[in-house]
Amino acid sequence: MKSLVRQNDQLIVNKAQRKLHIITFGCQMNEYDSRRMAQILMGQYSLTPHVDEADLIIINTCSIREKAEHKLYSLLGRLRRLKATNPSLKIGVAGCVAQQLGNRLFSRAPYVDFVIGPQALYKIDGILGKLAHGEIRLCDIELSRRFQIPCIDAPLPKKGDVRAYVTIMQGCDNFCTYCIVPFVRGREISRPSEDILAEVESLARQGIRDVTLLGQNVNSYGKGLEGDVDFSGLLERIDSVFPDVRLRFTTSHPKDLSDRLIDCFGRLGSLCEHLHLPVQSGSDRILKRMNRRYTSQHYLEMVEKLRRTCPDITITTDLIVGFPGETDEDFEQTLALVKEAKFDQAFAFKYSPRPGTAAVKMKDQVDEKVKSQRLTRLLNFLNDIGLKQYKKFEGRTCQVLVESYSDSKLTARTRGNHVVNIEGPKDLVGRLINVYIERACHHSLIGRIVH
Ligand code: SF4
Repeated sequence: MKSLVRQNDQLIVNKAQRKLHIITFGCQMNEYDSRRMAQILMGQYSLTPHVDEADLIIINTCSIREKAEHKLYSLLGRLRRLKATNPSLKIGVAGCVAQQLGNRLFSRAPYVDFVIGPQALYKIDGILGKLAHGEIRLCDIELSRRFQIPCIDAPLPKKGDVRAYVTIMQGCDNFCTYCIVPFVRGREISRPSEDILAEVESLARQGIRDVTLLGQNVNSYGKGLEGDVDFSGLLERIDSVFPDVRLRFTTSHPKDLSDRLIDCFGRLGSLCEHLHLPVQSGSDRILKRMNRRYTSQHYLEMVEKLRRTCPDITITTDLIVGFPGETDEDFEQTLALVKEAKFDQAFAFKYSPRPGTAAVKMKDQVDEKVKSQRLTRLLNFLNDIGLKQYKKFEGRTCQVLVESYSDSKLTARTRGNHVVNIEGPKDLVGRLINVYIERACHHSLIGRIVH
């Protein structure tokens, strides 16, 4: 959980008297949405890091993690007390859990003033206007067929930020059987490429040096956009207009990873050598039950093509253990795939049922104890492989972008997305420098500046 706190930065508008506090759960997409809401409201509210001095509290929820609903209600219970001391306080719930619950949320938490889904958040000022005119308990969870980010300037980055996200599409059409996203974020809708370029331009103007394009499945970008470009075409356009901005994207579905997109890693100078390609399982039987629509063989062939095209590429992934019906043999196949793919890093999770998804109804749920044992085994396995991958950097010199400074230490990032800790002065933040890698840790590198 993150509180959107923008003290001392450009998002604070001193003239605004009322205070806004945003609590954000979940992914980068939610962080982006929170900043959008803050930006839409910045003429009327200034952001506060203190929840108890807010006139408006927005909780931007995520339903990916377990017990999301339960966590939301317990947080709301705590916030309710603030209404007793400040009757004009407004509380709103946004994001995926808001989309799932809709009006039902009011019956359990009647003191909530509004509920707003991820595709309706751009209407937040209208909702607040209606509340100001006496309307109560407003709910807007409309799913749209048009891309719903208004073409206003990019969300202002925090002062000193060198990285930023740009949403390029909303929703997902894939219906993986464990995932709630298509139900709460709707069908895939791509954002016109002109708007994306305008946002990257605005960010570059504000000093952003590293941009990550966001979408649930960026590889299928462009579907339904008449006369516009596909995802490779979008990367080519951004690369040609902003060759000095480091470009990244997430997330990619393996079934839509085209040869042309793989080729981009070999020829676009601004595209960083990092791909997050969630595999989820190494068992074809489980992949089928997950409705992933690729095989482990196909996945490994893509990994091989990527490494042939771009030998330095960092490949990271997501893995689920204990999906319904997963046997010991299926799990061994996941370990075998992990060994063969040699991921630089992987995020492993125990399967947890999400209400409303197809996997919840599958009969052969795996025992919690077995899931935990498999997760522990997988994490140990990943740690060993990950450290070996990081060790390859020892003794090399890499170019890094310095992202932040704290206590005489700089945190920087390689093009391959490895975090490098170095000692150096604050004025290097935002600069590209060369560092010599002295030591590898499990999830970061230790380097020194090469003069
Ligand atoms: S691709 Fe699958 S896992 Fe990813 S958001 Fe879509 S349905 Fe969910």
